[in-house]
Parts: sequence; structure tokens; C-alpha cells
Amino acid sequence: MDRILDQSQAQQQRRAVAKAITLLESTRADHRAQADQLLTDLLPHTGNSFRLGISGVPGVGKSTFIEALGLFLIAQGHRVAVLTIDPSSTVSGGSILGDKTRMERLSVNERAYIRPSPSSGTLGGVAEKTREAMLVCEAAGYDIVIVETVGVGQSETAVSGMTDMFVLMQLPNAGDDLQAIKKGVMELADLVVVNKSDLDAGAATRAQAQITSAMRLFGQHGDPHHALHNKDAWHPTVIQLSALGGDGVERFWKEVTHFRRLQTANGAFAARRKRQALDWMWERIEAGLKQDFRQHPAVKKMMPALMRDVEEGRVPASAAARQLLAANTPTVRAEPVE
Ligand code: GDP
Repeated sequence: MDRILDQSQAQQQRRAVAKAITLLESTRADHRAQADQLLTDLLPHTGNSFRLGISGVPGVGKSTFIEALGLFLIAQGHRVAVLTIDPSSTVSGGSILGDKTRMERLSVNERAYIRPSPSSGTLGGVAEKTREAMLVCEAAGYDIVIVETVGVGQSETAVSGMTDMFVLMQLPNAGDDLQAIKKGVMELADLVVVNKSDLDAGAATRAQAQITSAMRLFGQHGDPHHALHNKDAWHPTVIQLSALGGDGVERFWKEVTHFRRLQTANGAFAARRKRQALDWMWERIEAGLKQDFRQHPAVKKMMPALMRDVEEGRVPASAAARQLLAANTPTVRAEPVE
């Protein structure tokens, strides 16, 4: 009986989380006001989870791995939320990730909550909704929040910008062609996982070595002399695993735990969260200003002709921008100061 009660409570809670996130994703102005209120109310109950970002190309094994990891963590007493940012859905309305049934066993587990990517909006908008959804999950007691993304476009920067640790998944053959590993993304990674090591152990080990030296080249491991003196700092690591067989999940979690302990002790964990909160604020300010600008009546009126002038080379882009910015006078003026 207790178990049945627990189950129905868990279901109710998952429904409440889903409803809250749907509210956040709504574009209606009245919903937005309710959502802002909800977030403000929830804020004191957020921040207690570990936020883990995971990225990799389609087929690398993200959902296989997240399912294995999620079930492992639940067995250890954690509650796990998985949120997804799918940049393809923001471009085409279609989805790389959403078309197949993913994480079947994890999704039916009552201690897990899985939410697919918002299916419309700009990447910035989708990232914003995901950040907010993360707060809802934290307030609902999910102590591990995994944010997953596909390794294309700017979504990796967005995910690393909202998580405590960013993990990049690679295929064993990726080492053969380091060109394929984007430098910018490598620099974001706190941990690189070479998956599918069961397919070819030799290739996986070669990939591990090549990625390790590439990261050193990119400066990820820092100056080796500096590193010697700085035992307290985390140095990005490369490990192998096989998500399909569940091999290496425990090893992976050991690395994560080590990262978390180290970063907490040396202050980097708190500093990263503070920086992210401020970055988020500025990003929202910029988005808000841009939106106001585009909607300003004078700007709207001048825009089409000026756009044509710039396209045709009649007016320099910088001059057009200045004219439009000058037209963007505040529509509601503050009370004049006496
Ligand atoms: P995602 O697109 O990154 O989410 O990748 P999936 O988790 O859907 O995996 C893509 C394919 O790779 C599936 O057929 C998985 O069964 C397979 N796969 C995932 N992990 C492994 C692994 O460790 N070893 C092998 N051999 N196959 C794997």
C-alpha cells in the first residue's frame, strides 16, 4: 500500500513539474507573468542539484549512456532529471533527437523526469526555457540534472554555460581525424568520454591518447609547470567507456565526484555559478533590448527602406545602424526630475 501511495505521489509530482514547465514554455503574456512569479517563488528552493551537461554528435550514444547513468544514480538514491536542447528543432521545427523513443527504462522510472527539447524558438529562447526548467526540477527535488545536446551549432556553448560540468562524448574513430573535433568545443569540455570502446579497444585507446594530447595543445591542461604547483585545480580528463554494456559508468561517476569535490574546495564551483547567473542576466537584457528595439514604431517604420539601402550598398551599415539607434527613443519616458 505504501508503495502504491509513493508511486502515485511520484506521478503527481512529475505531472506538477511537467505542468510548470509547460507554463514556462508558453508564449502568452499572462502565462509569462505567472511563470515569472512561479520562478521567483521557487528560487529559494533551487541550486541544490548537480548540473551535468552532456554533448555529442547524433549516434555517439548519448541516450544509451544517460539511461545507464540515470539508472545507476537512481540505484544510489538520487533523483534524476534529463532536459534536452535540440538546436535542429529551432531551425526546422523537426528534431534530430525527438523522433525516436529514447531512454525507455529511465523514462518509466518514478525517480526520473525526462523532458524533450522545446520545439520552437531561437536557440537563445530554447536555452532560456531549459535554464528555467532546470530550476523547476531542482525545486522538485531532483538532485542530478542532466542537460543534453547534439554536437552541432552553438548549443554546446549554451549547455556549458548553464551546467557545473560539461562532458563531451566522442566516437573511437574521432581520434583519426582531429579536424573533426572542434577546438572551441574541446575547450569547453571538463571531461571527454570515448564511447563504444567495445567495438575496437585499440581504436578507443588511440582516440583517448590523441584527444588527451590535443587538449594539452589547446591549453586545456594548462601549463604543465603550473599544473604541478596547482594540485587543487581540475584538469580535463579523457576516459573510455561502453554505454551499451554499462561498462565504465561507475568510473565516469567517480570522475564527476572528484571534479565536484575539487571544484567545491577550490571555489571554482561557486565562481562558475555566479558567473553563469550574471551572464544569464546580461543575455536576457540584450534579448529584451533587441526585442524592444525591433518593436519600436519609429524603428519599424524606417527599417525596411534602410535594410534595402544597406543591401544595395547605398548606405553604409554602420550609418544605418546609427540612424536606427537614434530613432529608438524611449516610448515611455520616466517622470522628469524636478
Ligand atoms: P545518441 O543519438 O547520441 O543518443 O545515440 P544512441 O544512444 O541512440 O546510440 C546510437 C546507437 O549506438 C544505438 O544503436 C546504440 O545501441 C549504439 N550504442 C550506444 N552506446 C554503445 C556502445 O557503448 N557500444 C556499442 N557497440 N554501441 C553503442
